[in-house]
Amino acid sequence: MDNKTIYALSTLLGKSGVAVIRISGKDALKAVELMTDIDSKCIKPRYAYFTDLKDKEGGYKLDKCLILYFKAPHSFTGEDIVELQTHGSRAVIKSVLNNLSKISDFRMAEPGEFSKRAFYNQKMDLTEAEGLADLIDAETEAQQKFAIRQMEGSLKNLYEDWRKELVNIMAYLEAYIDFPDEEIPEDTIIKINNTVFKLRNEIRKHLQSDNIGERLREGFRIVIIGKPNAGKSSLLNAFAKRDVVIVSDIAGTTRDAIDIHLNIKGFPIIITDTAGIRETEEAIEKQGVEIAYKKIEDADLLICLYDASEGSVHDFDNIAEKFKEKMVFVANKSDKLDSKEISDLHRKNELLISAKKQEGIDNLLNYIGNIIEDRFTSNSNILITRARYREALNEALKSLDIFSLNKEIELSAEDIRLAAREIGKITGRIEIDEILDKIFGSFCIGK
Ligand code: GDP
Repeated sequence: MDNKTIYALSTLLGKSGVAVIRISGKDALKAVELMTDIDSKCIKPRYAYFTDLKDKEGGYKLDKCLILYFKAPHSFTGEDIVELQTHGSRAVIKSVLNNLSKISDFRMAEPGEFSKRAFYNQKMDLTEAEGLADLIDAETEAQQKFAIRQMEGSLKNLYEDWRKELVNIMAYLEAYIDFPDEEIPEDTIIKINNTVFKLRNEIRKHLQSDNIGERLREGFRIVIIGKPNAGKSSLLNAFAKRDVVIVSDIAGTTRDAIDIHLNIKGFPIIITDTAGIRETEEAIEKQGVEIAYKKIEDADLLICLYDASEGSVHDFDNIAEKFKEKMVFVANKSDKLDSKEISDLHRKNELLISAKKQEGIDNLLNYIGNIIEDRFTSNSNILITRARYREALNEALKSLDIFSLNKEIELSAEDIRLAAREIGKITGRIEIDEILDKIFGSFCIGK
């Protein structure tokens, strides 16, 4: 990271009422000094100034704008920040950016650089920065809710608490390594063992959250399976309420898996249609069948669709053993059934639809929504939202699982160090200085 003051347009480039240009760095006030008549030495932080914005060389007016100043360290990046709220005209934006580019030690920010500086200045850790990125990307209410939690430190607090406990243990152990004549007192051994035991359990429980957090960010995966002609493509179209896949009665027309994105009860859902799963000699379709199997394995929920006029739930007996936990059976083509057949299916509580006539679709969506909602509410409010968190936590757990004070103390300390480092990777905190601070600052052994 260089020392330059950075600037960027924070709103989208295009015609709009207002555009926000953000400037961050030790010289941010230079922009005020050179482009306005405001005395930058007297500008008060967190006050709004309505003023003319002028070309710094020609002195002519570029726009009228609102200026806000946030003084370091009380700003998003932890540096001095000036925000220029100009009118959202391409010409205005271009001329202002052009002026900023000519100020010495100013340069255009790289993507994500404001957040990166905030991280380096310890305004947020990596999980909070990723929470912010998720909030900007959020498309559904649930994504928004969890992104805000993460941005406000829900994961950081949890992981930092764990890491601090490990750093504390490490500081003890390191100290005893430096003073080998000292025996670790019995009560310290018990305390350390108890803490490691507690941490193992907490991490394990946190890891059991069933990939819900990752799914929340990326979308729940629902895959529609069924025999050729069961109506899978038709159902996907009914879900999408538009024609996204070719519907045909020639078996095997759906060559590949196709995704549509839906928002059900605020949760992001990706629904995939699959090529018909059956033996085939045709190469392209074979490929489609392989993709289908992979999708089935990765799916959170399988809609097992059958043609109620000629099939049944037994169409899926071949995969029921392996995937029964996530199978939802849906009988299609209700329009082809007589009233007795319909009441039979109702009696068995089967979900009955007609994809072609768009009947029963809302009921099915509601049913799916309830399943997903249940899975969310039965889990903790703190979810693992990225695979990299999960990987690091698994690694940390491995080290804690082999930790024991019966080993040589250097090895025990190494296990704890590795666990702390893995958790530190998630938040972006590295512990060396902290251990030294702890060792030399908070307690001393032998003077
Ligand atoms: P897929 O092979 O499982 O994707 O099945 P398609 O969606 O391509 O449908 C196969 C045939 O069944 C097409 O002719 C559809 O029009 C027809 N079909 C699909 N759903 C229904 C339905 O609810 N009722 C009736 N009568 N026909 C349907």
